[in-house]
Amino acid sequence: MLTVENVRKVFGSLTVLDGVNLTVKPGEVVSILGSSGSGKSTLIRCINGLERLDGGRIGIDEFDISRSRDLAEARKRTGTVFQLFNLYPHMTALQNITLAPIEVLKRSKEQAEAEARALLDSVGLANWAGSYPAQLSGGQRQRVGICRALAMQPRYLLLDEVTSALDPEMTAEVLTILAKLAREGTTMVFVTHEVEFARRISDRIVFLEQGKLLVDLPTQAFFGPETGRDHPRIAQFLSKMR
Ligand code: ATP
Ligand code: MG
Repeated sequence: MLTVENVRKVFGSLTVLDGVNLTVKPGEVVSILGSSGSGKSTLIRCINGLERLDGGRIGIDEFDISRSRDLAEARKRTGTVFQLFNLYPHMTALQNITLAPIEVLKRSKEQAEAEARALLDSVGLANWAGSYPAQLSGGQRQRVGICRALAMQPRYLLLDEVTSALDPEMTAEVLTILAKLAREGTTMVFVTHEVEFARRISDRIVFLEQGKLLVDLPTQAFFGPETGRDHPRIAQFLSKMR
């Protein structure tokens, strides 16, 4: 279980996360919606230990991200894919994927490569193992990025606007992969502007607004008429997205 309890994060005088509570159970897909600047990426960066909390607590299973002796294990359990493909440019797709399993999980090169090839195959990139990022399309790079995160066998996959730098066709390629992962039971926290896609794959939707979680609802309820009636802000957000 991933547990975010009353988390606060400030940058200078700006409160970016203001008492956020969220739990994600194994197998769940939770999408985080909210307008630009609402704190979505900051929340993801707090969950994967890239930001220090100014209050509250984040638990990744039995590990507390704020406790220094827990940090390494907590971080191992999350895998993050970012908006901008941050692959190493001087490494092939295969090398990008096998680097951490070899260095961190102490896998043998042979085993790491076999696992990486299986992952590349599963995202339709079996023939691109030897390609460098510059030789790949944006959608292909992002699929390699997803493989790289999955190669660490994280319990929780964190995705921060993984399609927003892609054209519609590449977006569709990547979303197909994510839909498959969701069907296979991968636990995901999914920050996105792809509202219709979020509706299709999520168990729950949460809506962030100025660092506060405005609602946390089962997907069907979030898109139901009551939500718009009770939360005009969400109705307004959804009407702009469509
Ligand atoms: P977007 O949809 O545009 O990606 P977001 O919801 O992901 O937005 P965040 O990136 O979490 O928003 O940023 C939330 C607020 O925190 C913004 O006002 C941003 O300027 C501020 N912020 C984020 N990181 C920092 C930082 N390192 N230093 C100062 N302010 C920051
Ligand atoms: Mg963001």
